[in-house]
Formats: sequence, C-alpha cells, structure tokens
Amino acid sequence: MRYSQLFGKTSKSVPADADSVNARLLTQAGFVSKQLSGVYNYLPLGLRVLNKIQNIIREEMNAVGGNEILMPALTQEENYVLTGRNKLDILFHLQGRDESQLVLNQSHEEVVTPLVQKNVFSYRDLPVAVYQIQNKFRNEPRAKSGLLRGREFNMKDMYSFHADNEDLDKYYETVKGAYHKVYERLGLGEITVLAYSSGGTFSKYSHEFQTFCDIGEDTIYYCGHCKIGVNKEIIDDLKGACPECGNKELEEKNAIEVGNIFKLGQRFTNAFSFTFTDNEGKLQPVEMGCYGIGPSRLMGTLVEVFHDEKGIIWPEAVAPYKVHLISLGQDEEINKEADKLYDELCEKGAEVLYDDRELSAGAKLADADLIGIPLRLVVSKKTLEQKSVEWKMRNQKDVEMVKMKDVVKKIK
Ligand code: ATP
Ligand code: MG
Repeated sequence: MRYSQLFGKTSKSVPADADSVNARLLTQAGFVSKQLSGVYNYLPLGLRVLNKIQNIIREEMNAVGGNEILMPALTQEENYVLTGRNKLDILFHLQGRDESQLVLNQSHEEVVTPLVQKNVFSYRDLPVAVYQIQNKFRNEPRAKSGLLRGREFNMKDMYSFHADNEDLDKYYETVKGAYHKVYERLGLGEITVLAYSSGGTFSKYSHEFQTFCDIGEDTIYYCGHCKIGVNKEIIDDLKGACPECGNKELEEKNAIEVGNIFKLGQRFTNAFSFTFTDNEGKLQPVEMGCYGIGPSRLMGTLVEVFHDEKGIIWPEAVAPYKVHLISLGQDEEINKEADKLYDELCEKGAEVLYDDRELSAGAKLADADLIGIPLRLVVSKKTLEQKSVEWKMRNQKDVEMVKMKDVVKKIK
C-alpha cells in the first residue's frame, strides 16, 4: 500500500477527548476515528489489525469444532422477556414500524438458544458449538478508555450445547485451552491469566481472562503458585484465598478483562423449553456454555501494553503491515530504487506500507514510529551509496545496513 493513497492519515495534534493511551495513539496514527462516546470508525490500518485479531480467534475456535455463523444485531424484545433480561439497564430498545418492540443484542443467548433448538432434536445432534464475530451494543453507564469500553464494540461469542454436565465440563476445559492459545498468539500470553469470577445465578464461578495492565478497571488477586487470579468481586466469598491451593498471599494487580467463559447450565435452555430426546426416548434438558472475547478491546489492550513515547509497537502477528518502507530525499534515483524494492516485496507477498510522500525525513520517521509497524526499511542517498537499505525493528534501537540485493531474501 502506498501511503500517499491510504485513507486516514497521522495527525500531530492530540485529540482533546482522548482519555487513554490507546484512544490517543490509535487516533493520531490514523487507525480509528471516534464517532461518538464509545463508538468508533475503523480506518484501513485499524481494520487490518482488527481483522488479524479476529482471524487468530477464528482459527482457534475452528480448531475446537466451533461452527461460524452470523446472527442479527436486531432482535424482538419478546425473547428477552422470556429470559427476564429485557430489564437489563445496558440494553438498547427500539420501536419497529408495527409497534413491535426491538432490541440491539448485547449478547446473543436470546437469539442462539432458539436458533440451535430448531436444529437439535435428539442426543445424536449433541454436542454442538456455534460462534460469531459481530458487534454488540451496550448502553454502558460510562464508555471510556478508547476501545476498552465501547457502547458498540466487537465480540466473538461462542455457545455450546450438551447432553449432560460432564460433556459441558469437558468442552469448557477445551475452550479454556483455545483461549490461552489466542492470547499467546497475540503476544499477551505472559501477562494474561485465568481468573475466577462470579458465575451469575447459574454456576459458582465463571472464568475471566485478565491481562495485567495499569489502566485496567478490574482488580485481580494473583496467586504466584497457581498462576491464576481471583476477581476482587468474589475475593471475600473465597475468604481471601486462592481457590486452587488456599494460598492467602495474593498479589493485587490491575487488569483488563479480555475474555469471559461461563457454564450457563439450563439458565437459557429452560427459558426456551429446549430439550432433546435421549437414547431411551426420554426428554432431557440441554446444558449450555458461553465463551466471549472482545477483539476491539484486545486491540486497545495491545496498544496499552505495547507502546513507547513515540507511538505504537505492534506485535508481528497483528501488525497492519509487516514492513514500513520509506524513501528519504526527493531524488529520482532514490524514488526509483524504493519503487523497485516495493514492487519486489509485493511480488514476494510481503505486506508493505510504502511511504512515498514528498515529506521531510523527520516527519516520515516520526510517522513510522507512531504507526508502529515491526520492520522499518529506509532508502536514502546515504544507503544507496553503500548499495544498501537501512533496516530497523520498531522494538529495537539498532539500525543495520543490509545490501539491496539481500533485502527481499531476508524478509520472511
Ligand atoms: P465488563 O465487566 O468489562 O463490563 P462484561 O463482563 O460485561 O465486561 P462479557 O459479557 O463477559 O463482558 O463480554 C465478553 C467480552 O467482551 C469481555 O471479556 C470483553 O473482552 C468484551 N467486552 C465486554 N464489554 C465490552 C465493552 N463495553 N467494550 C469493549 N469490549 C467489551
Ligand atoms: Mg465478563
């Protein structure tokens, strides 16, 4: 991609209403543009990152047998009346033309349960897991911290349906493993832990995935022995001890909730009278689990964790492009060599953002640091004198001269 053709540009001015590092950097670097409080536009660079995060999640959900579907954002309020969740204060209500009451889904139990019910009749149809990646709507009392707490935000939500609790328990553990893989692949593995949290009315605990970060709204008590956490909300119920080993010397840390998995049991299947016939022909209740993860909150989290005073430092796996190529100096020879390198890299299939603008060296280098692509390549008069390109990783200080003829080979 030529930067001169890219929609969405960097900006030197700090947005007045940016209340967090991720809101500020993502806006200034041209990844997102705020629409209203807690609602964002994703510009091309931002959309590429969001897509990459979603694809990592998609691959891991597919690997545990999840079926991808897409459910509607709009739903009849009746379904929420059936589950008693029409009174949720975060639910957005709308009026249809024919007096029908509609809501914007804040989660999809009220949609997925009757949907799966239409397709599951006997024990032979179970277990089954479906998921989607879609925007959710929540009228949050306080939208804040950029992408961390939105009113319209992106979520991957998976729902699994089982013939009995034993099968649900087994699948729940499998999904836990898949979630750990997701955070690992995003570069957050070491600072993301499983934390016990309240289970709602249906089970004793749920499990959250919490990424340690100062800006995080949640307080986690971390057990160094078990490498798990306990959400402050339930620490008193647990008498201040780790639920796995009883250790009471827990470390208090701020964290961002980046995922949450629940055993819902029959909470929603009962509301819709969703049963199946077992192998003796008897009707039995269906057990259900749900598994949420927030790609847009993860994008904000990655910026909170990976940045310096100059800008974002994207982990390789989710960076919008792998290479940020810069031509420095308005000289025909420089442009020709940089163009040629760009073409060769593209031909090889490398993802390249090519800053071909007529701008000062200082401005171009500052933009590269702000945008945060992992590898920066500079072609200038100085590098061409050595038949070379300057090679620098965003997360390192050193620069290296690499012979022009070796550059393409060196890029994986
Ligand atoms: P929180 O406690 O932060 O309000 P929640 O427990 O209500 O979140 P869940 O219903 O468990 O959220 O949603 C699943 C995942 O979706 C969360 O773990 C988080 O990653 C993401 N998420 C939830 N609410 C938001 C939001 N307002 N903005 C961005 N992402 C969100
Ligand atoms: Mg949660």
